[in-house]
Amino acid sequence: MICPKCKEKIDSLRQVSTGTEECEMFFNKKENWIDWKNEEFKSDGIVRIFYCPKCNEELDLNDEEAEEMLKERDELKELVVEKLNKIKEKNDMP
Ligand SMILES: [Zn+2]
Repeated sequence: MICPKCKEKIDSLRQVSTGTEECEMFFNKKENWIDWKNEEFKSDGIVRIFYCPKCNEELDLNDEEAEEMLKERDELKELVVEKLNKIKEKNDMP
C-alpha cells in the first residue's frame, strides 16, 4: 500500500491502542525509591490510532479501513505471483 501522507510504499501500519497497565509497586530499600515491576499492559482495544511506519504521520483510518489497506497488499502480491506463474508456464511449454 502507499502511505497517503508521504507516498512511500509501506507493508505495515503502526497501531496505538489505549488500555490499562497493571504492575507491582514496592519500595526499593537498596536504591531508596519507589519501584515498579512486572508491568503488564492490557489493551482495551477501544481507541486506536494508526501511524505510517515510515513518516510517523497519523493516518485517518478506522479498524476496518486499516485492515482493508493491509489486505489490499496481499491481493496485489497474489496477483503478481499468479502472473509470474503464468509466465513461467508459458516458458516451460515446448
Ligand atoms: Zn508515510
